[in-house]
Parts: sequence; C-alpha cells; structure tokens
Amino acid sequence: MKMVIHISAMVQDPVIAKVILDTGVAINVDRANIDATSGEIVLEVPADSCARVAHAFEREGASVSVLEHPIIRDDAECVHCGACISVCPVQVFSFVDDWSVAMDESKCIQCGTCVTACPHAALRVMSE
Ligand code: SF4
Ligand code: SF4
Repeated sequence: MKMVIHISAMVQDPVIAKVILDTGVAINVDRANIDATSGEIVLEVPADSCARVAHAFEREGASVSVLEHPIIRDDAECVHCGACISVCPVQVFSFVDDWSVAMDESKCIQCGTCVTACPHAALRVMSE
C-alpha cells in the first residue's frame, strides 16, 4: 500500500527510522522530497501494517494520506500511444497482446513524469 507522509519543522529528526523501530515494519521509501523546512515522502508499506505505520507517523507529528490510486488515467482520453511506457522509471505501463497500454498503478511512485509526457493529458497523480 502506498502512503504519502507530509512532515514539517522536524526534518532534522530521523522520523522514518523511529517509525521502523517503533512498529517493526519494513518500510520501502519510493520517493522523498525534503528541504530545510518540510518534506513529502512516498512509502510502500505492507497492507496489513498500514494503520500501525500511519499512527506511528502521526505520533511524530506528520500528516499521512493513504494512496489507493497513485496515478489515474482518463481512459476516454488515452489513445494507447505508449509514450508513458518509455518515460516511467518503475514500469507502471506496458503494451499487452492487443497493443493497448495496461497499467499496474501499485508500482507508481508519483514522480509525475508521465503526466507531462502524455500527449493527450490523460494522466494525473492523486494527492490522496
Ligand atoms: S502517453 Fe497518454 S495517451 Fe499515450 S498511452 Fe500513455 S496515457 Fe495513453
Ligand atoms: S507518476 Fe507516472 S511516470 Fe512516475 S512512477 Fe507514476 S506512473 Fe510512472
């Protein structure tokens, strides 16, 4: 399960390490944008540990959103050109037998690259 963590005023703290030690859950960091004052982190967490991990981050003062659908495609706009296949760094998109483009949204790390690459504006990343 994908989870977005928003942190502020505590970026010097080892928040992720604290949560891992607190919960014992193996957390995979998909993407992290952190500057001196705030940050956004996208994590992959086992589905059965999601609530425990979310509460642990909230105890550290972070806000947490669970991403049910990290990337959304408007199927009415998609023309299956395949441009998103070549730019996605984690192979969310692939051609299938009939040469249509399939998606495995569970892999998406919300980098946004495909959103700008799509010539039909068919893709958008979800904030929660
Ligand atoms: S780039 Fe856009 S139009 Fe092309 S296959 Fe991907 S989602 Fe569809
Ligand atoms: S935002 Fe698009 S390019 Fe980036 S990981 Fe998700 S599907 Fe792939």
